[in-house]
Amino acid sequence: MTPKAETAPERLAIVRRTMEEAARAAGRQAADVTLVAVSKTFDAEAIRPVLEAGQRVFGENRVQEARDKWPALREAHPDVELHLLGPLQSNKVKDAVRLFDVIQSVDRDKIAAEIAKAARTAERFPRLLVQVNIGEEPQKAGIPPAETKAFLARCRDVHGLAIEGLMCIPPLEDDPVPHFRRMKALRDATGLPVLSMGMSGDYREAIAEGATMVRVGSAIFGARPPAGG
Ligand SMILES: *Cc1c(COP(=O)(O)O)cnc(C)c1O
Repeated sequence: MTPKAETAPERLAIVRRTMEEAARAAGRQAADVTLVAVSKTFDAEAIRPVLEAGQRVFGENRVQEARDKWPALREAHPDVELHLLGPLQSNKVKDAVRLFDVIQSVDRDKIAAEIAKAARTAERFPRLLVQVNIGEEPQKAGIPPAETKAFLARCRDVHGLAIEGLMCIPPLEDDPVPHFRRMKALRDATGLPVLSMGMSGDYREAIAEGATMVRVGSAIFGARPPAGG
């Protein structure tokens, strides 16, 4: 049985241990999988103990919320690495480029072009992942799997962007494993190093299927309010 965890640092320790076990079971090194602690909807008071427990990589899904919370937290911990996980709108690109170290949600040419322009202006070049709509859901952000290769080529040749890898959020109601396998094949075909997949409910399976980055929120910080996104 999972040991009882009362605090976020205790839950963080459990997630880290579970990641190590999943990596080992898959014949992989624990160090090959990065944990992104997803702190969206949680305030600085909730985040600070997780920082103090040594976690340095965090994910947020809204630019404005991150801008409100992170500059102060970063003063105490300048080595924090902040990832944007949510869809990016044109009017937030400049802020996103200034604030985030990694943007995981590059999903269309317009945003790619704007990131390139904002990055040159700010002389700040966040690492970038392309979000793939692996379940081909009509409402979901992301590039359709069949168009991913062409989009990566345009990012490089048209927009002048270096993309590090792929990210996905499989359909909520599906078994994620077939989607993880398709993502792994897609990523392998690109030769890119990063594969961001797996959340609180399925990060073990994602590691078994080759994730190099997992994004875990509620298993560390606790349940979010239902509308909290
Ligand atoms: C919220 C979110 C997560 C974390 O979800 P949990 O189920 O709380 O682990 C991961 N990735 C993205 C893109 C998210 O928006």
